[in-house]
Amino acid sequence: MAESPYMIKRREQMLGLRSPDPKKEPKPIAKVSEKKKAQQEADKAAGVKSSPRKPLPKGGKPRGRSEKMRGVVSALRPLYDAFMKDKEECEIKSPVCTGRAEYIHHVEGRGIKVILDQSKWKACCGACNGYVEVKDAEAKEKGHKKSRLAKS
Ligand SMILES: [Zn+2]
Repeated sequence: MAESPYMIKRREQMLGLRSPDPKKEPKPIAKVSEKKKAQQEADKAAGVKSSPRKPLPKGGKPRGRSEKMRGVVSALRPLYDAFMKDKEECEIKSPVCTGRAEYIHHVEGRGIKVILDQSKWKACCGACNGYVEVKDAEAKEKGHKKSRLAKS
């Protein structure tokens, strides 16, 4: 006598082999494991070897360059504010200068090693910030730009 799939399932439930409804069963760690899964995928894509047995540190923050960079970028905001506080005038003063400093130009780009170095920051107006980007060579000559430029 063949058992119906339902009966098999039912019996497994009785024996505790199968939870009544796996879809509706509450999984408190579901979110975390989803995140972890995503992180492992990201690590895989980035060529990082992940160790599935080793749990992530509390808070689930993945380590890595991008995470560090994100930390740096979030740390920059208050630094930007403080830096700009006493910068009212554009320091680049290109031919298109509008005078008022509104942005921070990173003379040596925004690489992780230089991004926090305020000696490589220049308060500038939006026009100059754009100007140094198009006038790359000229800007380099004047020392406004030494490597790649990124908008601030
Ligand atoms: Zn300017």
